[in-house]
Amino acid sequence: MSNVDAQELAKFSELAHRWWDPESEFRPLHQINPLRLAWIDGLADLRGKQALDVGCGGGLLAEAMATRAARVTGIDLAARPLGVARLHALDAGVTNVEYREIATEALALEQPAAYDVVTCMEMLEHVPDPAAVVRACATLARPGGWVFFSTLNRNPKAFLLAIVGAEYLLRLLPRGTHEYARFIRPSELARWAREAGLDLQASRGLQYNPLTRRYGLAADTSVNYLVACRKPA
Ligand code: SAH
Repeated sequence: MSNVDAQELAKFSELAHRWWDPESEFRPLHQINPLRLAWIDGLADLRGKQALDVGCGGGLLAEAMATRAARVTGIDLAARPLGVARLHALDAGVTNVEYREIATEALALEQPAAYDVVTCMEMLEHVPDPAAVVRACATLARPGGWVFFSTLNRNPKAFLLAIVGAEYLLRLLPRGTHEYARFIRPSELARWAREAGLDLQASRGLQYNPLTRRYGLAADTSVNYLVACRKPA
C-alpha cells in the first residue's frame, strides 16, 4: 500500500548515530555534499527560497541548504536519522531548518505547489515505486520551481563501481546498501519526470577517483548522477 520498504528504512536507522561522522559509512555523502549543494545553488539560487529535502536522512543536504539562507523542510520516514538531523541543527545553531516524519505522497496532498526547490537525493533507488515519488516531488514544487534528483544508473559499469567496488573492494559502503535491480537509468528518470509535468534542464555525473579518494562533477552520468528539472511557470 504505502510506497516504502521497511528493510531499507531499518538499514538507515541502524547507522543513524554515525550520520555526521565524515569517516563513517556516510563518507561518500559528506564528500558529494558540497558538490551537489553548489550545483543546486548555482541553478536555483537558494537564498530566501522555500526548500524541501525528500528522504533527507540525517540532514546533510537539508542543513547545508539552510546555511545558504533557504528555509528548509527535511522529510524522511526513518525516525532515528530525523532525530539525528534535529539534534545536529540544534547543536550547529541552524534555525531555518525543520524535520518531519511524513511520506512524500502525503506531504504532496497537504502542501501542493508550496516549494521553490525540491531535492530528492540518493533516495529513489531505495523506494518500491520511485515514479510515484517523482510525481509527488513535482506536485510539491510551485510553478517555475526546481526539482532535483540524484540516483545510481543501471548498467554493468554501475554494478561494478557502485556495488562491487564501493561495497566489496573499497568498502566505502556497507554490503547490501544498494540493490542493483533498483538502480535507475537516466532515460527512465527523464520519462517519469516528463510524465509528472517536469521539464529537464540539466544533468551531471558524480565521479569517484579511488586514487585521490575524491569525488567530482563530470559530464559522464554512467554511475552516480544528478538531474535538474523545472516545473513550467
Ligand atoms: N538524501 C540524503 C540521504 C540519502 S540515504 C542524502 O543524500 O544525504 C536514503 C534516505 O532515504 C534514508 O534516510 C532513508 O531513510 C530514506 N528513505 C528510504 N525510503 C524512503 C521513503 N519511502 N520515504 C522517505 N524516505 C525514505
